Amino acid sequence: MAGGPNAAVVPCDVCLFDEGLVTRAQREREGVESDDYECARGHRFGVEYRRGPASEPLWPPGPEVEAEAARVRGEKR
Ligand SMILES: [Zn+2]
Repeated sequence: MAGGPNAAVVPCDVCLFDEGLVTRAQREREGVESDDYECARGHRFGVEYRRGPASEPLWPPGPEVEAEAARVRGEKR
C-alpha cells in the first residue's frame, strides 16, 4: 500500500533539504503507512503516505521541487 505505483521513485529528501540537490531515490520497501527509499547517493529515508497513495507520479519531480532545491541552495550562500 503506502505510496502506490506512482511513488516507486521519488526525489531524495536528504539531498533536497540538506543540499538543494534533486536526486532519484528508488523504493526499497513498501509499508502500510510509509515506504523506505534509498537514493543514488546512498541516503536512506522513509516517506509517510497517511492520506493514501500518491495520485500522480512523484518522478520526474515537478517545478515546485526544483524551486525548493533552488531555495535551499540559495540559503547556503
Ligand atoms: Zn540523497
